[in-house]
Amino acid sequence: MFFAAALAQRGIDVVVFDKRSRAHRHSRAIGIHPPSLAALGRLGVLDEIVVAGVRIDRGVLRIHGRERARLDFASTGAQLPFVVSLPQLETERILRTRLAELAPDALRTGVEVLRVGREAASVRLDLGGGLPSVRARMAVGADGLSGVVAAALGQRGAGRSYPYRYLMGDFADATGDGALAVLHLHPSGIVESFPLPAGRRRWVTHLPAGVGDESADAALLARLIAERIAPEAAPDPATATMSSAFGVRRRILSRMASDDGRLAVIGDAAHEVSPIGGQGMNLGWLDADALAERMPALLAALGSPPHDAASPLADLGRARLRSARAAARISEFNMTMGRPTSAAGFALRRAVVATASLPPLGRTLARAFTMHDR
Ligand SMILES: Cc1cc2nc3c(=O)[nH]c(=O)nc-3n(C[C@H](O)[C@H](O)[C@H](O)COP(=O)(O)OP(=O)(O)OC[C@H]3O[C@@H](n4cnc5c(N)ncnc54)[C@H](O)[C@@H]3O)c2cc1C
Repeated sequence: MFFAAALAQRGIDVVVFDKRSRAHRHSRAIGIHPPSLAALGRLGVLDEIVVAGVRIDRGVLRIHGRERARLDFASTGAQLPFVVSLPQLETERILRTRLAELAPDALRTGVEVLRVGREAASVRLDLGGGLPSVRARMAVGADGLSGVVAAALGQRGAGRSYPYRYLMGDFADATGDGALAVLHLHPSGIVESFPLPAGRRRWVTHLPAGVGDESADAALLARLIAERIAPEAAPDPATATMSSAFGVRRRILSRMASDDGRLAVIGDAAHEVSPIGGQGMNLGWLDADALAERMPALLAALGSPPHDAASPLADLGRARLRSARAAARISEFNMTMGRPTSAAGFALRRAVVATASLPPLGRTLARAFTMHDR
């Protein structure tokens, strides 16, 4: 929807097929980072996002309740030096509304793209539900992990599952931490907590090995928080509006576009990174923002000899995949710092935290966590 709205802003005809006919039940992403805020500004929805969300200016890291490090996002030098927390459901609603303003008939929900085929001077999309195929000058897959467009590109992507599972849930916020993002380090596993709008808070923690999805609920999350921080820190399970367990994976394609420039993939379709780091949704928007900006020139070059059409797109793809690999490294650092460890391992982690809180490194980390220069 971000990409389609950005194309419509440039006067480019666009149709979006989404096999879902209603929104996800659960909100996944919440953190919107400074480069995405700037991109949302170009799309004309920044004010709405900022008003609807919670502005986070800093994050702190605590060990046994004591603050050990602080990341100040003002130190990043970003034009909008803060993170906005807003449930993805709400962000998607805002983007859907913006797309409807710019191109009222663009979004076709409940329509599955079964296959993407090539024709001499176009791409053909075969649709489900007995609908006739459609042809377009170019097809861009923002189809997440399903990979219909990636398959047409001949790309599967190198992937791996990490041996970690996490439990997350949204609760009424009784912490008194307001708009602070807080990471609690504990030898049994990290606990993360982030503000949400309307006096709520998202909690995420490392799930002990052997816990099945059926017992990974809000009560277990509250119990793990009590054990890893303090009994009085635990949220009230009766106030939970969502809880869910999830595993984490990494899968990054080796290229994002076809040689003739007619097919491209963006977002999770091109790169799935672990949510522990909170950058997946943001990466997809930044792909979309960068691709939309170059789209008039790319469309004009279609049909020229392949190298003319493909080079700018191939360069863009390489740059975006570099960003995805950087995001994957950040999430791997977070997962390593947050997994269960021995007393000796925890002592080492404390030393890393002490170093990270020194001003020059603190600024570098704040930039990395807020996707500076992505
Ligand atoms: C628990 C969790 C927490 C997360 N937290 C964060 C966070 O804090 N910050 C962050 O940046 N990211 C986070 N993420 C990642 C983020 O949710 C994803 O990166 C983001 O949703 C990817 O967006 P997308 O549009 O690329 O793909 P998706 O959101 O997967 O959307 C793909 C769309 O394509 C449609 N589709 C698929 N196949 C077809 C087809 N064949 N035909 C038609 N339509 C099709 C689907 O219906 C869907 O609407 C989190 C993820 C999880 C699981």
